[in-house]
Amino acid sequence: MTIDESIHEISPFFQVKQTKWGGRACFSNANIPKGTTVLQVSNSTGTSISYEFRKEVCHNCFAYANARTMKYRLNYESVKYLIRDPHCQINPKKFLGAGLWFCSDHCKTSYLQIPNIIELIECYEILLHHFPNMLKRYNITSEQEKKLNSIPISESIIQSVWDEIENDWIPRINNMKTTKKINQLPPISEDEYSCIRFVCESLFKLKYMNPQCVTYHAFNMLQSNELSKITRFPVLLNFQKLVFQTLYIMLPSHLRKMLSIPLLRHILGTEYGNAFGLWQEGEASESREFFGYWVFPEASYFNHSCNPNVTKYRKGNSMLFNVNKDIKKDEQICIDYSGVLDLPTTKRRKFLADSWFFDCACERCMSEL
Ligand SMILES: [Zn+2]
Ligand SMILES: [Zn+2]
Repeated sequence: MTIDESIHEISPFFQVKQTKWGGRACFSNANIPKGTTVLQVSNSTGTSISYEFRKEVCHNCFAYANARTMKYRLNYESVKYLIRDPHCQINPKKFLGAGLWFCSDHCKTSYLQIPNIIELIECYEILLHHFPNMLKRYNITSEQEKKLNSIPISESIIQSVWDEIENDWIPRINNMKTTKKINQLPPISEDEYSCIRFVCESLFKLKYMNPQCVTYHAFNMLQSNELSKITRFPVLLNFQKLVFQTLYIMLPSHLRKMLSIPLLRHILGTEYGNAFGLWQEGEASESREFFGYWVFPEASYFNHSCNPNVTKYRKGNSMLFNVNKDIKKDEQICIDYSGVLDLPTTKRRKFLADSWFFDCACERCMSEL
């Protein structure tokens, strides 16, 4: 894919360029002194907080208070004034709080001020109502999982699974009455639940994003790692299918209009390899908690180096990218993907190959080999 003009606006400090060796990279526009922030991004296109942390992490600022449950939840009183759509499926008597927890009243209020946020809250709420029943029916044995993980994978096998959904499953579902459709919700686990929420948020964000903005272009241009990832973990193909089927049945029409098979495959295929880990704030350390992951398209064009010149860190709901040594004009700007720079060369390179599907050829690796 060629580089879209608009992503040159990602940062005044660097440009994304197509490289001679294939792939894309960020090159500095001028000499940049140590300590400069070359990029700050907030507002991810999608966030996934893992199921075990769902009550312990603030859904607005991602604060974490040592495994204590966050104090503030949504109640019907706090969302009812946002409901404008007469078909909204939020039930006043059975409102469950949409699975959203907050550290403070301020964070809860800020979250509710996101334009049209009620549409996303509605999706989370519907999912939360169906989830216990879907989870109860989920009983994949290790034998079945082994079987799912031993399917041979190729581009055409992936395509045939989606063709079947498109040509057979969707028309069947479309012909059903609402109550019967609900019975078709597949059994899912906590992992699918978190992923479905991630896709809901991505669809919602894309729906209201200006198609001319940098984030939108950067998102569309992200490289998909679908084939590499599913080849490595064939079970993911079934996982994605369950995510799609659940969303197709459950989403209210305002977001279902957004859901297409190519878009779902792009959201999930680009997440593998482009998402940043969502970590507890503070210095990298053994005790730091890993909550989940989030996607910032503008920050996804940095390549990896085992001797990076930019350090990334989280500040609230933003990610900052700071220069850690003076950078010369036209030098490539790189970050560390791995978080395991202390590992010996071969182990570190294996970790990178397994997780990000490339053989690191950075200067440090080359000199150490
Ligand atoms: Zn908060
Ligand atoms: Zn390396």
